[in-house]
Amino acid sequence: MIPYGRQSLDQADIDAVVAVLQSDWLTQGPAIERFESALAARCQASHAVAVCNATAALHIACLAAGLGPGDRLWTTPNTFLASANCGLYCGAQVDFVDIDPLTWNLDASALARKLALAEQEGTLPRVVVAVAFSGQSCEMQALSQLAREYGFVLIEDASHAVGASYAGSPVGSGRFADMTVFSFHPVKIITTAEGGMVLTNRADLAEHLRRLRSHGMTRDPAQMSEPSHGPWYYQQIELGFNYRMTDIQAALGLSQLDKLEGFIARRRYLAERYRQLLADLPVTRPGLQAQAESAWHLYVIRLQLERIGLTHRRVFEALRAAGIGVNLHYIPVHLQPYYRELGFAEGDFPEAERYYSEAISLPMYPGLSDEQQDHVVDQLRRILNSGSEHA
Ligand SMILES: *Cc1c(COP(=O)(O)O)cnc(C)c1O
Repeated sequence: MIPYGRQSLDQADIDAVVAVLQSDWLTQGPAIERFESALAARCQASHAVAVCNATAALHIACLAAGLGPGDRLWTTPNTFLASANCGLYCGAQVDFVDIDPLTWNLDASALARKLALAEQEGTLPRVVVAVAFSGQSCEMQALSQLAREYGFVLIEDASHAVGASYAGSPVGSGRFADMTVFSFHPVKIITTAEGGMVLTNRADLAEHLRRLRSHGMTRDPAQMSEPSHGPWYYQQIELGFNYRMTDIQAALGLSQLDKLEGFIARRRYLAERYRQLLADLPVTRPGLQAQAESAWHLYVIRLQLERIGLTHRRVFEALRAAGIGVNLHYIPVHLQPYYRELGFAEGDFPEAERYYSEAISLPMYPGLSDEQQDHVVDQLRRILNSGSEHA
């Protein structure tokens, strides 16, 4: 089976991990700071805070944004559960903004309309999570303008977009978003097995994120309610968590970061090759916006079902049966039973729902060879042709 995504590890990665295992520090030691500084430098951000996964990163980013009970968080329905769940963890209400039919990202004009309405009703969000779907940022310029106008905190969930850029700046630079979150899950752009990071240019947010990562503890006398009892002393000044990343993971991340440019180049090459190979098939290829240079975490196509004599599910199953490990990103979050229980229903976000009825993620990862990619397209062509014979 050719998977839809897969990590690329080499001997240097393995050596980096083994070196940590032979050192004095296994968790949150010197490798963490090196990984944080290196990624902050690569993304032109002032601060980076490494945590155990991107879900935890989103959780503490929301808390640092001040999100709590009675507040609202808005995001796109076309995302992984975590982009919305982080709002519920904080006791906030979650709502969604439908997607742009071309880029499949949160639609900036739909957001503007919803904000104008919410202002009249006094229901403005405190946080908007803008997901860089498949590695391509949303219209961040427009979104950051709306953030200033309506006073919400803009968090970019760039789990798919390490190494991407927008308007000439690296994703994570903080030019548009207050905080940017990355994931290092094995299918993402670089991996630490499990891992996440929050980038920001605001020192106050970075300090708060570090405290939330580690039990809400401080060793800074300036933050303590009484004089220090001695060199061992710390105080818990708020409720935090153990969301630490290990040094083993950070060493792997650093080693992976060395290869980021090569990974991105290969993903861009494969995306361009898909664009050409798929040109004459009854599928819609990803819509790009001029400002964004995608990291191409995913390569999603939409079936033009009116031109194909097969259902979406039949095409998906036939690809799996042919050894192509296709996937579907994403089931609209508002249609999950847990979210329906909160009051959402079919028809609430029609663009995301229509997208879901047509989308298929094709294999996309640096180790995918040109020959394997040709094979994927040949199989897709054969399956789509078998439909038109019956149509
Ligand atoms: C993978 C992913 C996450 C969660 O990442 P973890 O590191 O697995 O917690 C969040 N948001 C999006 C959009 C993702 O793709």
